[in-house]
Amino acid sequence: MSQVVDHLAELTGFRDRDVMDVTLVMALRDLLEPESVAIYRCIGETGEERWLTRAHLRAGEAVATADPLWAMPESLPLATTHPLRLEAMRSRNVTQVMQGESWLYLFPIATDRDVVGVIEVLSSHRLGTGAQRMVSSVLRIYHNFQGLLDYSERDTLTGLLNRKTFDESFLKVLSEMPARPAVSHEGEDRRHDVAVPHYVLGVIDIDHFKSVNDRFGHLIGDEVLLLLSRLMRGSFRFHDLLYRFGGEEFVVLMRCDEEVHAGEAFERLRLNTERYAFPQVGHITVSIGFTEVRAGDAPAAAFERADKAVYHAKGHGRNQVHNYAALVARGVIREAEQQSDVELF
Ligand code: GH3
Ligand code: MG
Ligand code: MG
Repeated sequence: MSQVVDHLAELTGFRDRDVMDVTLVMALRDLLEPESVAIYRCIGETGEERWLTRAHLRAGEAVATADPLWAMPESLPLATTHPLRLEAMRSRNVTQVMQGESWLYLFPIATDRDVVGVIEVLSSHRLGTGAQRMVSSVLRIYHNFQGLLDYSERDTLTGLLNRKTFDESFLKVLSEMPARPAVSHEGEDRRHDVAVPHYVLGVIDIDHFKSVNDRFGHLIGDEVLLLLSRLMRGSFRFHDLLYRFGGEEFVVLMRCDEEVHAGEAFERLRLNTERYAFPQVGHITVSIGFTEVRAGDAPAAAFERADKAVYHAKGHGRNQVHNYAALVARGVIREAEQQSDVELF
């Protein structure tokens, strides 16, 4: 009993979801002594769902393994390759089956809105009802705690991440950024041989939003914000981080395999917004600026570059997408004084 309480104290001692998931598998490993325990999340667009391993720990292993935060979706197994996991999620019940000599248990993980994944326990011995109930109780606490995290990290109107969490996730992205392969020995640019992801920060600002409020009132204005957040979700990929930064200003932290993809995604959002008929309000537009995240960037510095590109769009007719680097290259705006992104090392 005290062992369970110790693990719960450990589990709820972190505000980082990655650490929480690792702590959860370690707790279950200690409590159940299984062959392995893992947390899988079902992610991606409908029909293209895949399994992201959040944490996986085998007996005797000291540390859990996990897919990187920005794993390429194509590299993850398709959801349909593990029908038992899907079945556990669908039924919302604990599923148990024999697998060879071992027992396989699948516990669905639910949030307030949805079932988002499973915990998979492979055990050489059968788990009694007491043990299963204990896992379910631990999962309920995990679930409640995740709900509290959502509450503090998400904007209540749109459900997007809030500004408070931006700096932290930005710095996390930077720390995971692989060194980009430079020019090869032969002097050729090999960047296109290896898909090296890079990160782009975009700022989205609604055009003339004040006039929406003035003409239709704040409630209708709020509905526009909510609907725009949905358009954003539909225009970017599941692993892109979407924030509501302030009133009518949104930020996207995006992983791209090619620079051109970033521009395409923002253009898609611009077009989707322009075409969308907002109830009562009709049509609105957005101005978007984006910039590549540089090694050693400070969150505020990257934001400022993207914001300058937005400012340019605002001054040149609005309803446009601008790339900061392209504006600098064209001589339209001047590169800011080098700030914290000077080479310090
Ligand atoms: P621009 O095209 O230059 O961006 O013009 P704008 O009117 O969108 O920009 P401005 O910054 O002048 O006004 C933003 C308005 O957004 C002011 C405020 O009334 C509105 N706003 C800010 N936060 C909220 C909110 O949470 N809900 C609603 N409904 N309106 C908000
Ligand atoms: Mg604004
Ligand atoms: Mg605006």
